[in-house]
Formats: sequence, structure tokens, C-alpha cells
Amino acid sequence: RAKASDMHSKDCVKVAVRVRPFNKRERDAGSRSIVSMVSSSITIQDPREPQSRRSFCFDYAYWSHSGFARDRGGLYVPEEPGGRYADQDSVFQDLGEGILENALQGYNATLLAYGQTGSGKSYSMVGYGPNKGLVPKLCDRLFQAIRENQDTRQCQVFFSMLEIYNEQVVDLLSRGSRNPGGLRVREEQQRGFYVEGLRTVPCDSVEQLMEQGTRTRTTAATHMNANSSRSHMLIILQLKQIFSKESITKQSNINLVDLAGSERQRSSGSEADRLKEGTAINLSLTTLGNVISSLADVAVGKKVVHIPYRDSVLTKLLQSALGGNSRTVMIATLSPADICYEESLSTLRYAERAK
Ligand code: ADP
Repeated sequence: RAKASDMHSKDCVKVAVRVRPFNKRERDAGSRSIVSMVSSSITIQDPREPQSRRSFCFDYAYWSHSGFARDRGGLYVPEEPGGRYADQDSVFQDLGEGILENALQGYNATLLAYGQTGSGKSYSMVGYGPNKGLVPKLCDRLFQAIRENQDTRQCQVFFSMLEIYNEQVVDLLSRGSRNPGGLRVREEQQRGFYVEGLRTVPCDSVEQLMEQGTRTRTTAATHMNANSSRSHMLIILQLKQIFSKESITKQSNINLVDLAGSERQRSSGSEADRLKEGTAINLSLTTLGNVISSLADVAVGKKVVHIPYRDSVLTKLLQSALGGNSRTVMIATLSPADICYEESLSTLRYAERAK
């Protein structure tokens, strides 16, 4: 579908799929893998109808280094691995470097993680312990690049972290913001959509801020009797670069989004809560899917009349960093196990729409 002549727009939306290792529950249940790969295309098999297979083609497809490699020779290695085993570093090289380069050139970027709860969104985005994910790696490299370019430009990085729950915005860096109804999303001609009163912190390292935000997210979820897998987490890195010799200022936003779990939402709350919550979560995910799919159409030269940014809070806030000269990367995560077939198939379908 892509026009070879238009490399830039073709590069604008990239989709990667990452299959996590089997977890204990799946191993204990004697699950088997229903996923196979040939280079960057993925095939999934219906466990009840082994003849029924669906294939999807992406920019990247990854097995997970650690889990599968450890189990090699045992039960849990895919029979015909195909594809690529990728660790956090390789994933960063493929997906993070381009975003960083783009940002240093003054363009916006959005990185999204989509998938069922427990499929590896946080592992890929944030990481656990020494296995740093895309966000901390990107930040480390950003600050390194800033130091290396000190003689040509003066840079400042601003950090914000928020969550969207039931179409309401909660500031994860500010304790006082748990007002009912959340913070307001406003629109200004120059600035586009923004969150009024959102805390924006100048920084030269992000670890502490991320820890603080993550803690607030967990506590906020407990207060609302919810689970953080039902909310979207958004980190906004604003990079301001002043090139004094040329007297140019460049500003770019990098949006890093850990989306709510893509599974059908079940709630411990009342029927009414569940309906409200389910609709709101799906609204953002559905709208995001529609927006990205329209952008993918634009990128290959199709005529698109309307991009529905305004239909959800998430897409409003991402508007300036989706489309145009911005780079969008989606990492869709899934389990290899037969017991996750329905959810994995729906993840692959969603990710396919972005291509
Ligand atoms: P999610 O954020 O989608 O709910 P997590 O990222 O918390 O899921 O992943 C669930 C579990 O699976 C975690 O224990 C995590 O360490 C592990 N995991 C996920 N992806 C990978 C991976 N690519 N390699 C190794 N372990 C992984």
C-alpha cells in the first residue's frame, strides 16, 4: 500500500508486535503456543480449529528473549520460531531511536503500548528492574544527546505524567488534583488541546518523577476502587531547544502512552459503574484506533475527510503528536498461549488497522 516515493509519510506510523514469554499460569495449565512468525509477519491459530489461521504483517515482530531462551529445549519454545528474539535493547533500537532523532529535529512523536492486561505493555514501556523499557531508555538517550550537543544548542526538558480514567484526567505528579471530575482539557488556537493546571516539571533525569507518578497512579486506583489496568497513562516530554547562533527555537513533544488493558472490561463495581467505565475506556481505545487508521490512510495517499481527534480525551491530547510530521509507533503486546486466543486475535486486528 505504501508509496515508495514517499518515505517520510510511510515512516510516520510504525507497528511492532511483541510476544511475551509464557507465564506460570499458562505453563501450569499446559498451554501451547498458537503464534508463529516469519520475519515480521505473525500467524495465529485458532486452538479449537487448528486449520483456521490468520496472518498479519507488521513492521516488526518479536519473540521475547529472556523467557523463551531460558525454556529452550523444554516445552515452551515455539516449534518453528521464525521471527526474531528481541531484548529491551533491540526493541529500543528499532522503535526508540527514530523517535529520539525526530524529536531532536523538532518534530513530535507518540509511542503507544496496546494489549491485554498482563501481555507486556508495562514491561515494554517502563520495564522491570534492570530490564529498562522504552521510556527510561529514551530518556537516558535524550539526556545524553543533550549533553553531546551542548555547544550547538541549549536544551530544556519538561516532564508531565497523567492518567485518563473514565474520560477524566488525573495529574500523577500533583497530590492536590484529585478533584471530582478531574482536570479540564482546554483548547487554544496556537497550542491545541492541553490540560489546564497540569504540573510540568523541568528535569534532567526522570526516574524519580516516574516513580512518584506510578505511586500516585496505584493509590488513585485504590481510592477509586479500580485497577490501574483500566486507565491510560500518558507521559509528556517537552523538549525545548535553543540554537543561539541561528536564533532558532525548536519545541517538540514526545508522548508515551501505556494504554488501558484491551480486554473486555470486567468490573468489581456496580453494574452502572461497569457500564460507564467500559464505555469510557472503549471510547478512547476505539477513537484512537479510528484516528491511527485514518492517519495510516493519509500516509499512503488515500483521501481522508475527517480525523476524529475530538471524540475522546486521549486523542485530543495526542492530536499535535499524531499525524503531520509526527512519528507514531505502536507496540502491540500479546501472550503466545492458546488460552489467550480471543484477546490476542483482537490485539492483532487492532494493530493491523494502524498499517
Ligand atoms: P501489562 O502491562 O500488559 O499488564 P506487564 O508488562 O506487567 O503486563 O507484564 C506481565 C508480566 O510478564 C510481567 O511479570 C513481565 O515481567 C512479564 N513480561 C512481559 N513481557 C515480557 C517480555 N517481553 N520478556 C520477559 N518478560 C515479560
